[in-house]
Amino acid sequence: MTRIYNGFADLIGNTPLLELHNYRRNRNLEARILAKIEYFNPAGSVKDRIAWGVIKEAEEAGKIRPGDLLVDVTSGNTGIGLAAVAASRGYRTKFYLSDNISQDKVKLLRLFGAEIVTVKNEFFLDPEALDKITARVREENPTAFFTDQLANPANPHTHFETTGPEIWRDTEGAIDIFVTGVGTGGTVSGAGRFLRSRKADLKIVIAEPAVESLPTEENPYPDEIDGVHKVTEVPAEQLPRNFDTTIADEVISLNTADARAAAIALAREEGIFAGTSSGAILWVATQLAARAENAGKLIVAILPDTGERYLSALTEQAP
Ligand code: PMP
Repeated sequence: MTRIYNGFADLIGNTPLLELHNYRRNRNLEARILAKIEYFNPAGSVKDRIAWGVIKEAEEAGKIRPGDLLVDVTSGNTGIGLAAVAASRGYRTKFYLSDNISQDKVKLLRLFGAEIVTVKNEFFLDPEALDKITARVREENPTAFFTDQLANPANPHTHFETTGPEIWRDTEGAIDIFVTGVGTGGTVSGAGRFLRSRKADLKIVIAEPAVESLPTEENPYPDEIDGVHKVTEVPAEQLPRNFDTTIADEVISLNTADARAAAIALAREEGIFAGTSSGAILWVATQLAARAENAGKLIVAILPDTGERYLSALTEQAP
């Protein structure tokens, strides 16, 4: 059997679910953990899904056509996904990035042909930063299409249509607990809503950084878990509109060192090298899998991207 794919978009999704047998045995865990490895997407992260979803829905609505400029504010992976989809379909891209984004991600964006505008991370000190940056993006790019990952309903909709159904299909409905993190909230809200619609007592758990990753006066460049943000003790107006605040049953917080240690353990025990937010989600899945009440249950943990995007930070922790 051969199959020829006809474009970048055809390569997105249907990522593998890997059962972490060695990892479970080494810790005597009560529950089974399945990792959904999103770095199998063609530009290397879960965000390829929504990049295509947002562009596809805008094309279908007649809002954009090849040659147009797409703009967004992104911490990296959405930009990389958008830049890759845009390259394959003939769009131009421009991204507003905080200056604390890993240089490897910035280089990747440029490689795909994106234009970059850097915003000082201190700017995000301002509680109204998101509104202000959105206003600036619109003002500076009046004719561009703002993909708006934080509020565009195409983001959770894509996860409702793809990520959720894939997990349901591949576990044959046996999933008990779904674990992920929140950046825009698209994954947890979209996939979570789909899975819950199939199984009312499905448990949804969010991994969040223990400390708010927003910069402070004293620490303008905090040690972050790239791509995910705190969701508890955050004023509602600072949470992304795409995050359904009622979806999760539990939120478990952890520090960056634990997230990195879990990512390194996964590489050394299963040969799967995923990023820091993947480490965070796996760490939380591990806590759940150790609980006696979860004996025999099936946990699905999302691994959003590849560890190669954080090689310097991860190798610093595990030389
Ligand atoms: N991890 C990483 C590395 C990400 O880039 C993102 C997206 N910002 C997430 C997790 C969170 O996904 P979502 O935006 O769907 O909440």
